[in-house]
Amino acid sequence: MSDTADVRKALATWVGYLGEIGVRELSLREPGPTAPMAAVPSPPEPSPAGEASGLAAIRDAIGDCKRCKLCEERTNIVFGVGNPRAKLMFVGEGPGADEDAQGEPFVGRAGKKLNDMIRAIGLEREDVYIANIVKCRPPGNRDPEPDEVATCSPFLFQQIECIKPRVIVALGSPAAKTLLATKAGITSLRGRFGSFRGVAVMPTYHPAYLLRKYTEENRRAVFDDLKAARARIDEAP
Ligand code: URA
Repeated sequence: MSDTADVRKALATWVGYLGEIGVRELSLREPGPTAPMAAVPSPPEPSPAGEASGLAAIRDAIGDCKRCKLCEERTNIVFGVGNPRAKLMFVGEGPGADEDAQGEPFVGRAGKKLNDMIRAIGLEREDVYIANIVKCRPPGNRDPEPDEVATCSPFLFQQIECIKPRVIVALGSPAAKTLLATKAGITSLRGRFGSFRGVAVMPTYHPAYLLRKYTEENRRAVFDDLKAARARIDEAP
């Protein structure tokens, strides 16, 4: 399919979704430098119980999602896991087989590597929040397609707005491209902060890539990126 057909299809899916959640009017405005996609509806107002109930409302809105073709082969929707008030958030590309089976992101081999990465900067998995740009497993672990990302990522964006992390670590190309609204690849993006709606984004290599290419250079690159993310969250507010 051409790029234009992809964009048309993604827009049609998106407008359908807005209708489904009750949006009846859209205003057109110039996207700002960090706005990655069409305006998304505001996240549900956090209730007095705070971010956890805000996240629960987003999960409720997702329901038994059939908004894109990834629903056809999924076992579980993989919403996200961790501290609802995390200062540091990790975003990967999409669930694999283990995550699809268990309903939790990063629980397979890549997940173990991610846990090591988190510990390397003095944190535990429970301290951070972990999610993906799509919540259902792409068949055969292929990259999520543009229409799938366009349909699903607004829920991730709502999670980010609810949690308000200080830093997001984007794991691998699809996550970095989605959050930074760029076509650049991870090798050129990694190591430098970008921004998603005012939140600092540090792109780095995906833990699955580190498992495949565990060289001293790659290990050092990821460690440097994570140390920079940690230093940013430790800065005064
Ligand atoms: N890879 C990802 O990008 N996300 C997961 O949840 C698991 C593996």
